[in-house]
Amino acid sequence: MNRLSADKRQQIVALLQAGHSDLGIQRRVGVSRATANRYRKQLGLPGYRTTESSPACRHGHPFPENAARDNNGWLYCRECRRACARARYQPAQPDEIAIVRAVAGDPPDRLTPRERTAAIVRLEVRSLSARVIAERVHCNPRTVHRARSESREVVAA
Ligand SMILES: [Zn+2]
Repeated sequence: MNRLSADKRQQIVALLQAGHSDLGIQRRVGVSRATANRYRKQLGLPGYRTTESSPACRHGHPFPENAARDNNGWLYCRECRRACARARYQPAQPDEIAIVRAVAGDPPDRLTPRERTAAIVRLEVRSLSARVIAERVHCNPRTVHRARSESREVVAA
């Protein structure tokens, strides 16, 4: 009936005794949470609950380095919060049509700084003067000079 290898059974018992969660055992050993829980009951260990003294969060980030409490006293994992913020952050993509229009000398009413810089860089390639570029993109010649030096920094880096 028992199809688990002795090696895996030993691993499960060791992880349970080290205080790991059923999910943590599922991820480390590759057995289901139900199996981990069956072993937990056989050993007479209490059900797992994430606390500051847990070895890791539910996603395997080590505790207590990543353990923190919010203003309401709830425990959370710093690394999970960071991963969540990273997943949500989406940088604004420059509008290609706006760039092309700016290069052609007919920019839309509003250009984002990134779009303006992209248009300036494309006009730079045609070796136009800063004043001419500024007229095309509808910006100050100083902006052209700044974009020029910034793009050189990017190339150098
Ligand atoms: Zn985490």
